[in-house]
Amino acid sequence: MTALVQAALRVRRTARSSWGLGAAIILAAFLLAGFFVPGTRTLGWGHAVWFGVWLLLFGRRARNAQQHGADPRSAFELGAILLVGVFALIQASGGVGSHLYPLTYVAVALVASFSFGWTAIGIIAFAIVLGFGVAFFGENVADPEVLGLNAFFTACFGALSRLFTRAEIVRVRRRSKQELAAEREKARDDMRLFRLVAPTSEGVRDADRLYQTSVQEVRQALYHALQLLHQTLELHTCILLMPGDDAEHLRIAELITQSDDIADGPFTLGAGVVGAAVRRQVTTSLHPIRPGYAGICYYRGPAAVRAVIAVPVLERGHLRAVLCADRMVDRQFSPQEEELLRGSTSHILRAFENERVFMALETSKREQEILYRASQSFSTALTQDAVMEVGLAAAAEIAPHDFAAITEYQPEGRRHVVKRAVGEQGLVLQGLRFRDNTSLTAMVVKNRHYLPYRGDFDSKQQVLFTKKARLKGMESLLVLPLVVREETIGTLIVAARAPAAFSRSVRETLQALGNQLAVSLANARAVRQLEELATTDGLTGCLNKRAFLTELSQKLMAAERFGRKLSLIVTDLDHFKGVNDTYGHATGDRVLQELGRVLKRMKRETDLVARFGGEEFCVLCEETDSRGAELLAERVREELAGTELQTELGALRVTASLGVATFPDHAKSAEELFAQGDKALYQAKNQGRNRVCTV
Ligand code: GH3
Ligand code: MG
Ligand code: MG
Repeated sequence: MTALVQAALRVRRTARSSWGLGAAIILAAFLLAGFFVPGTRTLGWGHAVWFGVWLLLFGRRARNAQQHGADPRSAFELGAILLVGVFALIQASGGVGSHLYPLTYVAVALVASFSFGWTAIGIIAFAIVLGFGVAFFGENVADPEVLGLNAFFTACFGALSRLFTRAEIVRVRRRSKQELAAEREKARDDMRLFRLVAPTSEGVRDADRLYQTSVQEVRQALYHALQLLHQTLELHTCILLMPGDDAEHLRIAELITQSDDIADGPFTLGAGVVGAAVRRQVTTSLHPIRPGYAGICYYRGPAAVRAVIAVPVLERGHLRAVLCADRMVDRQFSPQEEELLRGSTSHILRAFENERVFMALETSKREQEILYRASQSFSTALTQDAVMEVGLAAAAEIAPHDFAAITEYQPEGRRHVVKRAVGEQGLVLQGLRFRDNTSLTAMVVKNRHYLPYRGDFDSKQQVLFTKKARLKGMESLLVLPLVVREETIGTLIVAARAPAAFSRSVRETLQALGNQLAVSLANARAVRQLEELATTDGLTGCLNKRAFLTELSQKLMAAERFGRKLSLIVTDLDHFKGVNDTYGHATGDRVLQELGRVLKRMKRETDLVARFGGEEFCVLCEETDSRGAELLAERVREELAGTELQTELGALRVTASLGVATFPDHAKSAEELFAQGDKALYQAKNQGRNRVCTV
């Protein structure tokens, strides 16, 4: 039912929205019947009504398109209606043979140029079909050559017009893109011009907005200063010129003028008034100016002014700008006026200085904020992983990059390990280990000084880690040492595809971050060592008794809940007192270490080994019954018995006795399990040692 209603609604909606097209087709049907062919009927009321309907239709659709913008369908409708009208005109003026027939091509070209994509192809097809129909049915023209040629020209005109329109669209798009890029480049130029950033600094990416507001501030200050001079001194032009990066050319920094003849610049210094003021660094004025004088560089042709003055703007002896003023009035610049101009240059300088200080403050404030936030996060990050996470996140804020990594130096094995690597190639390089070599990373660890020089990376000549594991496609790189108490524990690395991506200030901030990172990493390492110390036995590296008991109670609960078995192996060396007595305590300790190694080597991943004090060891085997535990115990016994220890008194072999007890078969609690294990061990000792027993 609802489907029916929906279908009915859809039919109505479609009918309502495409009635224009329907009406156009009905009007076209008249043409197919030869309605306008001269001679058949004389022009009469019928034709007037047809034309009236057409006009109404065209008007409605055109207004619609104007109000709502042309969606593809209404563009098609409008085009179709227009074509029907044109074909009616052609038919009335003699049909296919009419001199006006080429008008249809023009109409198709026009309509096609306003349509988009498929609509254009649709409208061309419509024109071909309509042209064919009107000629064939309406005017009885069956000559294939005439019909074919008409269709061919219609198609050609339509296609050509589409082609031109598309080309034009592409051209306009490209131009606006270029204009946008030029605009951005100009903003950058301005920053350099005002010396808000160093001439070579490219590391402004994320600070762009800050610089832009600064440029605006400077511009505003300059504009007001010049405006004031312009009004009070009755000037024709008041212009501030600044030397570009090369110091050979002058560019317009700000300008207030009544002239239409100002050149765009940049200007070469030249021999005129401005050149003299710049070269000699003294105020230079000229009056009267003879007609045709061409020594004022900022005018396109000879100047029409009568007096000119150029005041150099000096900052600590360096030329920063030239302030030029001229006027049409035939009056020399008086000493008072000169003084006023000179006074305003200090105002201009202050505008620059203010913004520079503001920028420096803003930049360092921003960096301080990042560092402060990082240091807070560092203090809550306890594991090495968490610390590295924080470090890399902060590095990304300070220096946007395409690759970053943290390496660790392990002095025992003289090895470097890439602990973390993010960004491009991060997945490939993380976990990489390499020996101390001549790579940048190794050099930085050795020399405790960042590399490469100024952050310029030549991936063909320089090696970051190893020759095999290359970092590709990067032009900027910084490897910074992570130093704690005079010792380099690793490096912090950032890299970017763009050249000169890391400015000096970015590098210094990153190094400050690196120092924090280094201390935090060392702390995290110390915490880990403390934890290990608290849970392991110093001599053998096995778990200690306390840690083992904690683990046991947890594993016991899990075994109980899931109905699993849990086996305990208790080990005791045979006649160990004798070993100590004969070979000394040190050798005894070596035997204990050897037993610890054997146990750890033999056990499965999930088993736990602990030294229980003295020469007693325990192994806890999860999900293992007595049979499995006995097998493990037997292998341990054999392995130990087969091991020979070299001592000063010759080769030494030791054996051990082992007892096995299983939860819940032999015991229901931890205490009981230990008691049963000891009992089994006692049996093994009693039965002659160097054997495995189960209760
Ligand atoms: P049994 O076959 O009956 O086990 O004889 P045993 O001599 O091994 O007897 P017992 O297990 O009672 O001996 C414990 C000896 O282990 C006492 C001590 O000399 C030695 N021992 C305990 N702790 C250490 C240690 O940390 N280092 C060394 N070198 N010896 C230890
Ligand atoms: Mg013992
Ligand atoms: Mg013993």
